[in-house]
Amino acid sequence: SPRTAKATAKAIVAAAPGGPEVLQLQDVEIPSPGPGQLLVKVAAAGVNFIETYERSGTYKVSFPFTPGSEAAGTVAAVGEGVTGVAAGDRVAFCEGAGTYGQYALVRAEAALPVPDGVGFEAAAALPLQGMTAHYLVNSSFKAGPEHTVLTHAGAGGVGLLLTQLLKAKGARVITTVSSDEKEALARSAGADEVLRYEGFPEKVRGLTNGTGVDVVYDGVGKDTFDGSLASLRKRGMLVLFGGASGQVPPFDLQRLNAGGSLFVTRPKLADHLLTPEERQWRSREIFDAVLAGRLDVRIGGTYPLAEAARAHEDLQARRTTGKVLLVP
Ligand code: NDP
Repeated sequence: SPRTAKATAKAIVAAAPGGPEVLQLQDVEIPSPGPGQLLVKVAAAGVNFIETYERSGTYKVSFPFTPGSEAAGTVAAVGEGVTGVAAGDRVAFCEGAGTYGQYALVRAEAALPVPDGVGFEAAAALPLQGMTAHYLVNSSFKAGPEHTVLTHAGAGGVGLLLTQLLKAKGARVITTVSSDEKEALARSAGADEVLRYEGFPEKVRGLTNGTGVDVVYDGVGKDTFDGSLASLRKRGMLVLFGGASGQVPPFDLQRLNAGGSLFVTRPKLADHLLTPEERQWRSREIFDAVLAGRLDVRIGGTYPLAEAARAHEDLQARRTTGKVLLVP
């Protein structure tokens, strides 16, 4: 092969699955955008819980691995056949690859234009958790003023957005958190009732005249799943969307019968961004709400790229609130 010197940039690379310490800053070749792709110079990258599952080997990815699917930045180059997006455009996305770095690739059709008036940090904080909160309340279980809802981790990245979207729809929101600081944040997002995890199903019964809630949006998983089921009204729905405490083990369907003709669904974001129209609907509603001052994006932690390992440690140790970002 010809010995042309390729341009390099910094990126986080994990050589093999493991703890946060496998996330190492390295010099890597800047990738070239393939057909239909954009090369984006990353201004800020979103850190999401899924990257801890990938890094640790819970979700299968191939190594060496550069984590990250979410970022905001400036288009540096466009691949063959790309129309409607040009070098210099400001974009944000959550369907990219390798965003824990100075440069990342994304399919052009998945790039969301960043509106004037939205900074790169807010733009990087929104796509993944914002569109997740959007599909949970609009598609998994369509919440409205007639519903009482339970969510967990109410001061987390998804949690703070979820509560605000639910309140905008008029639902009554009960949420759980693990500390006083998180309780104050959850309340400022509009939660009606903020509980600690211990004994939450009984507390939820107490707050609903013994009936239980219409729906639980549960991203904590293993530690809360049984309690979430026990918090539902008859014919209620458990929307299990994550496993911050660990994945839920195999489940006996007969428990849905015993619990009162319950429903369980286990959704993911990719299945709710199936067409350009669907992506546009969700992203527009989220960005518009931020621009109109109806949705507050809390950035709880901004870490230098080199400290990606510390960002993962803090996220997994429940030390973060709101959105966690990496800045190259
Ligand atoms: P968060 O900011 O919510 O961080 C996780 C929070 O979970 C912690 O801060 C903590 O809040 C709570 N938690 C409870 N038990 C544990 C535990 N044992 N270990 C660690 N955290 C715990 O993260 P994200 O907003 O990024 O993600 C929230 C969940 O949503 C994750 O499970 C994630 O995988 C999922 N998700 C799913 C998507 C989908 O489409 N299915 C898309 C996006 C996210 P506290 O201290 O208050 O308990």
